[in-house]
Amino acid sequence: MARKLAAGNWKMNGTRASLAEAKALADAFPTPSVDIVLCPPTTLVASMATALQGTAVATGGQDCHQNVSGAHTGDTSAELLVDAGASHVILGHSERRADHGETDALVRAKTEAAVAAGLIAVVCVGETLAEREAGETLAVVRAQLQGSLPDAIDAAKIVIAYEPVWAIGTGKVPTLEQIGEVHTDMRAALSDRYGQDAQSLPLLYGGSVKPSNAADIFAVADVDGALVGGASLKAADFSGIVAALQEA
Ligand code: PEP
Repeated sequence: MARKLAAGNWKMNGTRASLAEAKALADAFPTPSVDIVLCPPTTLVASMATALQGTAVATGGQDCHQNVSGAHTGDTSAELLVDAGASHVILGHSERRADHGETDALVRAKTEAAVAAGLIAVVCVGETLAEREAGETLAVVRAQLQGSLPDAIDAAKIVIAYEPVWAIGTGKVPTLEQIGEVHTDMRAALSDRYGQDAQSLPLLYGGSVKPSNAADIFAVADVDGALVGGASLKAADFSGIVAALQEA
């Protein structure tokens, strides 16, 4: 069985005042039965990790460089995230792939760097609307998994997030059947590659998850949690999603 995870992606949102939302979330779930992580912008990683110390809510980054250190202006290595107090990092988000031209090979290098530094890597995959309409969803997702993940994995250090690009921030959500089809196929592809270890890899769904649709999504086979953007910014919204995951 895969462990369950509710992961919040604040993207390029949040100031120090927003740490109150993180603390409110931690107060709402002092002893959760699922893992919870918030991934704020890099400027807030250290202060959020400090604010959440001693709570059940972890802190993560939204990207890391594939190198340990060096002349990479503006970048953040996995080691620097660890030093700031992060335990997780989102990698290969579709916005990184689109805005920064990140390829599967780069995402794989970043994943290897993150795991080597001791972080849990939340590796994102997902098809565009054009790819879905062309009937290519399963092939696209399989190819992204193949290219973005190392050949040898520590199942405790990798999380997969299936995020259809067309569902991110749009309010559009695939049908439960469509989510189930992709998650079942991902589990099969991962089992072919990693054997029994694939059973314990958490498979998150991401794309317009809200408190109102979370329970239905978490009831789908092979959905072990969610990667949540907009609805993770407010503790009141994210709490509804965490509660639904605990009850799933
Ligand atoms: C995301 O940022 O990964 C995401 C899924 O965003 P949203 O929940 O806002 O669609």
